[in-house]
Amino acid sequence: MLRVPKVPKVPRAKAVWCGAVIAAIVLHAPVHAQTVDPRIEKLVGSISEARLQQLLQKLVSFKTRNTCSDPTAPDGIGPARQWIYDELKRTSPKLHVSFDTHTVATVRGCTGPIELRNVMAVLPGKTARRIYVSGHYDSLNLGPRGQQAGNAGGAQGAGGAQGANRPGAAPQAPGEAPAPQAPRPVRDPNIVAPGANDDGSGTVLSMELARVFAESGIEFDATLVFMTVAGEEQGLVGAGAHAKTAKDEKIPIQAWFNNDIVGGSRGGDGIIDGATIRLYSEGPEDSPSRSLAMFAARIGARYVPSHRVRLMARRDRFSRGGDHSALNAQGFAAIGFRESRENYAKQHGPDDTIDGVDFRYLAQNARVNAAGMAVLALAPPPPSVVNPRGAPTIDRAPSGYDAHLRWQASPGAAGYRIFWRNAWAPDWEHEIAVSNVVEYTLPHMNIDDWVFGVAAVDGAGHESSVSAYVAAPATGGG
Ligand SMILES: [Zn+2]
Repeated sequence: MLRVPKVPKVPRAKAVWCGAVIAAIVLHAPVHAQTVDPRIEKLVGSISEARLQQLLQKLVSFKTRNTCSDPTAPDGIGPARQWIYDELKRTSPKLHVSFDTHTVATVRGCTGPIELRNVMAVLPGKTARRIYVSGHYDSLNLGPRGQQAGNAGGAQGAGGAQGANRPGAAPQAPGEAPAPQAPRPVRDPNIVAPGANDDGSGTVLSMELARVFAESGIEFDATLVFMTVAGEEQGLVGAGAHAKTAKDEKIPIQAWFNNDIVGGSRGGDGIIDGATIRLYSEGPEDSPSRSLAMFAARIGARYVPSHRVRLMARRDRFSRGGDHSALNAQGFAAIGFRESRENYAKQHGPDDTIDGVDFRYLAQNARVNAAGMAVLALAPPPPSVVNPRGAPTIDRAPSGYDAHLRWQASPGAAGYRIFWRNAWAPDWEHEIAVSNVVEYTLPHMNIDDWVFGVAAVDGAGHESSVSAYVAAPATGGG
């Protein structure tokens, strides 16, 4: 049973009958988008600040989780990843826990081949489509901040990784040669690297979500994967290896929620913001990742109204990167959550300690992730709005001046929601619920002036992300 908050009613619209096109009958029930599933409310509410703290306390007790460090050290990355594995296994018998192991011949900053082990916990759903949440467990200590000043553009990280650039440095344009710099000092990967916020915060967030989803008793349609990733600081190596395998083996990754540096509410400039989180997504507008980000913000606002998701229409911050980009590179929809106010002085150094993590804030960020993942995993998959050649199934029929939308039926859908906005607007402005049909006509709506999209909705009101009608990207032009 769904609780429906008071919302304005959708204006009654006339069914449109035009020649052979029979348009859907618009439902005039309260807006589906406002329905709240009490089971999801309960799941979101069961996220525990105390457990997040306990998990992080343990994680930072290992001396280092540096990818290049000695995996046989008694207090290093080897025992740390084994603890993550054991803790996930202990959490629930419903979770299928494994090491996702990749041996990489050369990893920047490391000596010799490196065995990377992502730790993954799978909660099987009714279907194979997968929704991931992740944080990277590897950590980095480039030395005290003063010693890092000359490392812009170099450091231990590769392009796109956290370690690639110091945030204070001027961004390097694509293709631009890096500025000359002093030779890099040889760093010892075995020194203390607590990585409490970067990215212990995303790691324990993913581990806590594994618990609440497994214990929820909800049978999800999608398969959920809770992933702690290795090798992020060396150039997204662990996520990249996983993404490549997934692409090669045609594993249907529908969505990936990446969390990296999501525990600090006090910026290095002293500004405090514990009520918002930034969410980055690769463009262009209406790309699968951008659509996923808009969905996560919309659902987050419904289940965690006190916490605002700030959508950022860019892949990531200047000169910084994260694991979601490794998924994007293989064609998967993936988004990156980042705390609103970073403290650069604490990152990639010995001061990234647990006292810099605000667990109330981290728990709110976890709740926003959980709400989006739960709705996405219960809703039908988003409908396909392209023909086999990839062209959008939208035209001006029947009058030549109408918006005629067609889509493929989504398994499990009981109805659909049609969204539209001015072609200059960043987010959806209008929506209507329609019945279980596969086409709809909006008379005298010029398809060149509006962006249209459609989402699938199940009988209980869980809606998918929106599939937008967009022209196929130009080829060859980048
Ligand atoms: Zn990071």
